[in-house]
Amino acid sequence: MKANHTFTVVPRLPDELSSLAAISHNLGWLFDRRVRTLFESVDPELSRFEQYDPLGVLNRCSTTRLGELAADPSFIRRVDALLAELTAELDAPSWATSHESPLPLVAYLSPEFGLAASVPQYSGGLGVLAGDHLKAAADLHVPIVGVGLFYRSGYFRQMIDHEGRQHERFPVQHPVEVALSRVDDLTVELDIGGTPVVASIWKALVGPNPLYLLDTRIPGEGNPDQLVTDRLYGGGSEERIRQELLLGVGGMRALRALGIEPEVFHLNEGHAGFVTLERIRIAMIEGGLTFPEAIEAIRPSMLFTTHTPVPAGIDRFGREMVERYFGWWCRDTGVAMSDLLALGEEPGGDPAVFNLANMSLRLCGDANAVSLLHGHVSRTMFAPLWPELDVGDVPIGAVTNGVHAPTFMADDIADIIVRNVGPDWPLATREQFRALHAASPEELWDARNAGRRQLVEFLRDRARRAVAARNHGGDLAWIDNMLDPEVLTIGFARRFATYKRATLLLHDIDRLKALLSDDERPVQLVFAGKAHPADEPGKEFLREVAHLSIDPATRKRVVFLEDYDLDAGRVLTRGVDVWLNTPLRPMEACGTSGMKAALNGVLNLSVRDGWWDEAFRPEAGWAIPITDHFSTDPAQRDEMESNWLYELIEHEIVPLFYDRGPSGLPAGWTGRMISCIEWLAPQFHAGRMVRDYVEGHYVPAARRSRRYLVDDAAVAKDVAAWKAKVRRGWESVRIVEVEPPVDSHVDEKVTLRAVVALGGLSPDDVDVACLVGPVNNDGDIMGGDFMSMACEGGPPGSPDLLLYSAQASFDRAGSMGYAVRIVPRHAELPRWSDLGLARLTT
Ligand SMILES: *Cc1c(COP(=O)(O)O)cnc(C)c1O
Repeated sequence: MKANHTFTVVPRLPDELSSLAAISHNLGWLFDRRVRTLFESVDPELSRFEQYDPLGVLNRCSTTRLGELAADPSFIRRVDALLAELTAELDAPSWATSHESPLPLVAYLSPEFGLAASVPQYSGGLGVLAGDHLKAAADLHVPIVGVGLFYRSGYFRQMIDHEGRQHERFPVQHPVEVALSRVDDLTVELDIGGTPVVASIWKALVGPNPLYLLDTRIPGEGNPDQLVTDRLYGGGSEERIRQELLLGVGGMRALRALGIEPEVFHLNEGHAGFVTLERIRIAMIEGGLTFPEAIEAIRPSMLFTTHTPVPAGIDRFGREMVERYFGWWCRDTGVAMSDLLALGEEPGGDPAVFNLANMSLRLCGDANAVSLLHGHVSRTMFAPLWPELDVGDVPIGAVTNGVHAPTFMADDIADIIVRNVGPDWPLATREQFRALHAASPEELWDARNAGRRQLVEFLRDRARRAVAARNHGGDLAWIDNMLDPEVLTIGFARRFATYKRATLLLHDIDRLKALLSDDERPVQLVFAGKAHPADEPGKEFLREVAHLSIDPATRKRVVFLEDYDLDAGRVLTRGVDVWLNTPLRPMEACGTSGMKAALNGVLNLSVRDGWWDEAFRPEAGWAIPITDHFSTDPAQRDEMESNWLYELIEHEIVPLFYDRGPSGLPAGWTGRMISCIEWLAPQFHAGRMVRDYVEGHYVPAARRSRRYLVDDAAVAKDVAAWKAKVRRGWESVRIVEVEPPVDSHVDEKVTLRAVVALGGLSPDDVDVACLVGPVNNDGDIMGGDFMSMACEGGPPGSPDLLLYSAQASFDRAGSMGYAVRIVPRHAELPRWSDLGLARLTT
């Protein structure tokens, strides 16, 4: 019978178990091995690895069992000791405290946080990354405050029916069920589309750091306008803008209400972009700054991370919606709506569109993509925002993502690394990782087999439950033979977006079936992933794949695991032998599931897209060759690429896996496992990512921001005035003449000269520089940096012109090229490209 209403019964724990509750309430500790072991002893059945939920264990544990534990002095001593140990570790010296001065406090704003499957506040990669970021920051003791929304129904739960179709459910969750505690007496108010909305604030702990989630469901108030945070990505763009207003504007107000003053704001994708507007509003109203001054005042402390090379992944709103939702902002600040709308403009695009990523890029002083390749793709994609810059100079850098090792690495693999590289391996270099070659192939192979066995058990168990839950009855026996723990297992799990091409492996179904049913050296497949409820083509791909797992002819060798979540991700990425990824390059910004696999010595078989483009090396995995994607007919493209994929599996992967030496070991395979961990583990775990953000972005941003804000934001005001002057005068800046240098000899000095006009600007406002070096066949200057030229005053008789010169010499002979560039210069700019202005010789 269907429930009319659901309500929550909060467990009453015996006082003796308060330490146990405290441990379960810190989400940063969940994946600590000591904590996992502890909860296994609380209730082995409830805390099985595959459904890892310490808080749920306490919530569901029977009163009898809790009474037993409370009466067991040795258990209580153990729990108290562990809590004391974990608490002491929070204050112990760490990577963060090894810095000269304290690290700046960072606010990390994200629409989703994937910390654990039991806290379902994420839909996929973006959220899992945010969770990993917080967990890794906690491990390193980097001070960071997470800010997000609490979704009662989270993202949807997936069920697959007997025809392979996806169905969606939205179970409701109460915050106290997921380790959140209400911040009493504090609420946040804001205007959402003309209606005042009140949100309460929930707090979670991640190691030493807090995560605050805003929630508009306040008991006793049934106003439907309050239902802003029901579902993650639940509605259309109207619901989106409401949620994003709450996240950006409400998030900032929550921080202020809590008395937290971050020095740096990190936006995890554009969804949190409206925080910029709230900060500008505060700077104008409380700091008395003008609009341009306020922009300069917040800019240095804002970091924007872009996550998608797919334009459909970017928030774009109709301007009419911005007018409707930001009228209050214009009234408060006195800024004209047209000036606000200009921030989200798409150059050369539809004037009726407001693009949130563009707004964030215009207002944030620093921006990055999430892999080296994605950096390149993002600079190209957003280049229209900086029309005067060379694509390579577009100010978007790259910090490649990483995954949280304690969450995703299997214990036996971690043990092997600790024994050979040391317990501090997350800080170890690749050189130090060479020590891994001392590991024995036997122990690696044992770990591999254990992971695969655990996966097969898990999948059989899930399949039994799924069949039972659906009352299909009867036919459960075949599940005992579903998959084989000894067979080469290939995994594919990710969102079912069509560009990820989950069906590439199904392209030639007979060839695939031959692989599956080979008597001697078979292959088996595990798939998982959700399709967005509105993505019909994605759902069709899913149905095709799921069908193989239902068809009696293939179901023993192909499994579709429904409801892909963090627990499933953990079991899959440590359980399979090969992790498959077949996106259309370059549409995968980074991809992180392949990193989870790599940390476990699971070999990647992937198109060189996202992280794999920089990570691939032949001894650590495989690269699927690809055609030129955008000039090849899609059918022909998939035909060719699937063929290459089959060839790799047939001729390289299967032989390597089944080629066993006298002792039954596949030496080639274990050798690759070692190379895989040796090369990839030091580079692609989230600790490395957080360190890169701290040293390359947070610390410099905080330093610059402090300088901008002292003395009533004197530098911010100065930079704003100077930028206005440069923009006004830029039109008359010209390179009038570049004198061609005379031919010279090796090691002989040549003088390079240029004549420029600066109009109303002075030589102090600009940098005139030249690039000199060998030219290739296309006439491009190869490599090298621009070299500043010295101003030598005006040439005789031309008061409006200035002569610049520089000297160069060459240590080798050949054809040299020479080009001149003028860019704005100010000592306080984060980088010369900040204004997007440049004059080049043409
Ligand atoms: C790691 C993970 C993702 C992201 O994987 P990608 O390779 O980036 O697609 C998505 N969902 C879950 C549950 C994950 O664990």
